[in-house]
Amino acid sequence: MTTPVLRVESLCKSFGGVHAIRDLSFDVSEAQILGLIGPNGSGKSTTVNSLAGLFPITSGAITLGGARIDGMAEYDRVAHGLSRTFQTASTFAEFTVREHVVLGCNVTRSSHPLSSVFGIGRKAGEEEALARRVDQILEITDLMQVQDHRVGTISSAQQRFLMIATALASNPKVILLDEPAAGLVSHERKTLSDLIKKIRDLGTSVLVIEHHMALIMEVCDRIVVLNFGQKIAEGTPEEIRNNPVVIDAYLGE
Ligand code: ADP
Ligand code: MG
Repeated sequence: MTTPVLRVESLCKSFGGVHAIRDLSFDVSEAQILGLIGPNGSGKSTTVNSLAGLFPITSGAITLGGARIDGMAEYDRVAHGLSRTFQTASTFAEFTVREHVVLGCNVTRSSHPLSSVFGIGRKAGEEEALARRVDQILEITDLMQVQDHRVGTISSAQQRFLMIATALASNPKVILLDEPAAGLVSHERKTLSDLIKKIRDLGTSVLVIEHHMALIMEVCDRIVVLNFGQKIAEGTPEEIRNNPVVIDAYLGE
């Protein structure tokens, strides 16, 4: 049994009287793809936002690489190795694709984010290591051929891959992907599932929320199922597919 890189223990999150998440516990192991699924309103985005630090949790503990992160600010969590993408694409249109990825590299530095783009305050050797890392990210996200294009001119699918590329730039232990397949057509979903596996194989664990069930079943090593803010099942794709409780929750939607 490997030690979990991310551990969520008894997480609760209420918004006023709404219990969005109730007593949720799960682990993400090293180099594992964990899927988080559930009907609309079951608490998937609230879980991801709680992990990323968008708002304080009501109770529970979140541990990343052995360190408690639930009290930390969003950027501190990124610096500790937790990176995320959003459900909707959010990018800077005027940057080139390559500059945008470089921007993501700087979130773990204490200097101004833009200094990375202009190379300010970087030591010799660091520049080269950064260039190699950016090359590798552009390669696996299939963005190398548009690296000098302005972000505002690439396709919406490429913008979604760019969000993942930018989130990877900080070299996270865990990357959180909130509905990465939204708006993608079939061949782009194939590129996405290949990418998610490459991310895992390069050593970053992935927590993915996704409505597209075929993609989830294809990429995930394990799946956690939420319903009304609680975990109702956990297991391999095969176990989840055949779990009557899960089938019930979805049929009842
Ligand atoms: P999912 O992503 O699975 O569709 P959410 O996490 O967005 O579900 O929502 C879970 C529950 O929490 C829902 O009942 C939703 O209305 C509620 N909720 C989510 N965010 C907020 C918020 N900022 N304020 C109040 N209620 C919220
Ligand atoms: Mg959601």
